[in-house]
Amino acid sequence: MFTCPVCNFATLTRPPYETWPPPPKVPLRPPYEDQLGTPSYEECSVCRFEFGAEDNPGTRPGQSFEEYRAEWLSKRQLRTSEPDGDHPEKWAALTGRFESYESVPAAQATAALLRRAAKWNDHVIARGSMHDLLFTRIGDEFPFEESLRVSWTDGIYEFLLLAKQSRLVAAADKCRAPNAEDVLDSFLVQLTGGDVPAAPSALDD
Ligand SMILES: [Zn+2]
Repeated sequence: MFTCPVCNFATLTRPPYETWPPPPKVPLRPPYEDQLGTPSYEECSVCRFEFGAEDNPGTRPGQSFEEYRAEWLSKRQLRTSEPDGDHPEKWAALTGRFESYESVPAAQATAALLRRAAKWNDHVIARGSMHDLLFTRIGDEFPFEESLRVSWTDGIYEFLLLAKQSRLVAAADKCRAPNAEDVLDSFLVQLTGGDVPAAPSALDD
C-alpha cells in the first residue's frame, strides 16, 4: 500500500503518479502530472482525492494537496460532536471508546496516547474518530481558530497544528510511541499557550 499524500492514510494500491515519491526539495504545483508524470486516477478511500482529477479538473484551477487537505479536515471537524463541560469524564469516555476497538491498531495507539496525556483532560477538548484525534481549546467553537490533529499509521504518530480555521498548517511533526507524549505536550502547549499540567483532573465519583 502507498500513503495518500493528502490525508496520510495508507489507502493507495499504487503510486499516485509515475514519479513517486516526488523528488525532494522541488516545490510541487498542480496539475502534478506536469512534474510527476501520468497520474493513477485512483481515488483515496479516506479523503476522496482523485489523483489527476482534483489537481487537474480541466475546467478550473486544480487544488493542491494542502488546499484539499485543509478543506477535508474542516469538513471532518464539522461532523465531530461538540462536547461541553465535564471535560475529564469525556476524555475518559473517549479513551474507553478507542480501547474498545480491539482489532484496530490505530485506535489502540490513540487510546494509549490519550491515557498517557490524561493530565490535559481539563485543559483542552479531545475529539476523535476511529483513526485520529482532534484537540481544540476550551471555548473555541467550529470553525476552530486553532486545532491539533493527531493520527497514527504503522507505528508513527503524526501531529498537525492547524491555524486560521484549518487554512494553514502552522507546525507538523512525526514520531514513534516513546516520544509521542513529549511531542504531544509541546504541541498542546502551543495550542493552549499554557504550561504542561502537573496531574490529570480526577473524575467525580
Ligand atoms: Zn487520502
